Amino acid sequence: MSCFAGDPNFCPECGNVLPLPGMQDVVRCPRCSFSIPVTEFAGIEIRTSVVFNPEQSTVALEEDDNAELKGPVIDRRCSRCNKEGMVYHTRQMRSADEGQTVFFTCIHCRYGWAVAQLL
Ligand SMILES: [Zn+2]
Ligand SMILES: [Zn+2]
Repeated sequence: MSCFAGDPNFCPECGNVLPLPGMQDVVRCPRCSFSIPVTEFAGIEIRTSVVFNPEQSTVALEEDDNAELKGPVIDRRCSRCNKEGMVYHTRQMRSADEGQTVFFTCIHCRYGWAVAQLL
């Protein structure tokens, strides 16, 4: 019935501006003593962060992709797009006995795979 319902900043009972959540478990309307659990506010904050996180992770992924394409290019044929030209970088495994892993990334389609090399 109330037109204020749905906006967490206003009391759904009387429309008064609610105080910011403090140390208490509930936010209490100073006018009509309506109270709302602070968890309602926490839920809104979580939903807001979900909106922002995909943009941040997208930026991070693009940086990672560019990093993968930096490095020496070799004349190796991509098994997906069948063009020649791959960049590779190596990563040492935990112990020297396990050798190293070579990561190939196609510069055309960015298809990538890893080859473990035992020393
Ligand atoms: Zn109120
Ligand atoms: Zn390719």
